Amino acid sequence: VARKEPPRIWRLEESVVNRIAAGEVVQRPSSVVKELVENSLDAGATSISVVVKDGGLKLIQVSDNGHGIRYEDLAILCERHTTSKLSTFEDLQTIKSMGFRGEALASMTYVGHVTVTTITEGQLHGYRASYRDGVMEQEPRPCAAVKGTQIMVENLFYNMIARRKNLQNSNDDYPKVVDLISRFAIHYMNVSFSCRKHGANRADVHTVAAFSRLEAIRNVYGVNVARDLLEITVSDDNPACSVFNMDGFVSNANYAAKKTTMVLFINDRLVECTALKRAIEVVYSATLPKASKPFIYMSINLPPEHVDVNIHPTKREVSLLNQESIVDRIQNAIESKLMSSNTTRTFISQP
Ligand code: ADP
Ligand code: MG
Repeated sequence: VARKEPPRIWRLEESVVNRIAAGEVVQRPSSVVKELVENSLDAGATSISVVVKDGGLKLIQVSDNGHGIRYEDLAILCERHTTSKLSTFEDLQTIKSMGFRGEALASMTYVGHVTVTTITEGQLHGYRASYRDGVMEQEPRPCAAVKGTQIMVENLFYNMIARRKNLQNSNDDYPKVVDLISRFAIHYMNVSFSCRKHGANRADVHTVAAFSRLEAIRNVYGVNVARDLLEITVSDDNPACSVFNMDGFVSNANYAAKKTTMVLFINDRLVECTALKRAIEVVYSATLPKASKPFIYMSINLPPEHVDVNIHPTKREVSLLNQESIVDRIQNAIESKLMSSNTTRTFISQP
């Protein structure tokens, strides 16, 4: 057998590396929206509006009234690993902002066309700049602008044929965007959100600051959901075990749905936690005879050093210290809440 020469190894060009990495951070149109909205929230915005065309493949536009971006920073804004949120690795332990990697905007410029319009406090006019492959295309142009920042991503995945085809064939991402904004809107109830299709005169999500969580949920998910919710809180200040507190709303025995809705924020980050979701579903199917899938809104707060936010490139999952005991505590709390509300109901319905 002839011995085969081993293949040569070479360095990939930076642009290739960046485009590969970008495909991981920006998986679909709704992930662009998530990153942009998180940036707006990090910028202290109290008003965020989203416009989407062709499920996000043609256009995604997020406008906010946050602090804006300095003129001097526009040149490096969309380079990889440029951020205003993190400087040392240790900062990650206590980071409060949702972003920290400085990769989102850069990634978008490797898989789409990005235009930024921004104005900072006290300026007479704003600036607009366009970016491709991490690079600002020309000097920012002065332009009229209202407070804050508007970021436009056009022609997403124009250079990733398989991804684009896949998204065109599969269902439109717009429902995912609406779902995402709905989730942010009930947690960030002091921020007003709107989300619409390009050219539509009606928004699909439209919220103004709410007085209470329940009102926020009612505004977004409707009275049919809000009237069947139970408030639930767990707080644990015993330093011997894990320090955490949770507050939220979970559906009662009257609520009926085929699919679980779980809106979970950990330290104000929208995340997923499969273990917790499963654990809660188990409680519902064991406690309620109808075995409806629950609606859950839950906000968990933990010391930042107990949460590892850096386990997933999209920051979708986080890992928690003492996760098992936290899941246990929440499971127990929901179980006793459901039991007691069930008895009340029976009691009330008796003549
Ligand atoms: P990260 O959020 O991890 O810092 P991004 O690529 O998402 O990285 O954003 C890079 C930087 O651009 C941010 O650190 C922030 O300073 C600035 N920025 C992005 N979006 C906005 C916005 N909507 N308003 C103000 N500044 C923004
Ligand atoms: Mg970001």
